Amino acid sequence: MTDIRPHEIRVPVPNPDDARLYFIGRIHTPWTDRKDCPRQGKPDGPECRVEIFEPWVPALKGIEDYERIELLYWLDRARRDLVVQNPGHSDSTFGTFALRSPVRPNPIGTSLVTLVAVDGPILTVRGLDCLDGTALVDVKPDRCAFTPKAPPKP
Ligand code: SAM
Repeated sequence: MTDIRPHEIRVPVPNPDDARLYFIGRIHTPWTDRKDCPRQGKPDGPECRVEIFEPWVPALKGIEDYERIELLYWLDRARRDLVVQNPGHSDSTFGTFALRSPVRPNPIGTSLVTLVAVDGPILTVRGLDCLDGTALVDVKPDRCAFTPKAPPKP
């Protein structure tokens, strides 16, 4: 990965520490090419299928209670070595942590999506923006709709 845009800054990156993530599923979307993928998912976007792998399927118990859920996914096809980026191929640059670009040291994407259906290990959702086959890292209820199940801490 060598081609970067004007004014962008890349840094030499060490081998990543192994965070030992479990990829808990796979996301199926209509997009196979980055240029077709929305920059951010929209509530009226196409229905996408989120496949949860065993042994994690029982972890979906109760998810159907939420209209909106948060998905975290691993943007595996993004480079990881840019600290300053030039999103518009222009003179304007921004630090990676001031952007939601897929290019980041740990290429984690998040989307708040509408939960359309739950059918065993398959969630149908709207509001995604990732390529077909993107690995799923986590599923959580929308934080605004979620009430902690445990009593308040003293
Ligand atoms: N909604 C997420 C967020 O804000 O954290 C991701 C936003 S990111 C701007 C979405 C873009 O990432 C897509 O338009 C596409 O260009 C790119 N992308 C999607 N899936 C990817 C993947 N698996 N690997 C690398 N890039 C991907």
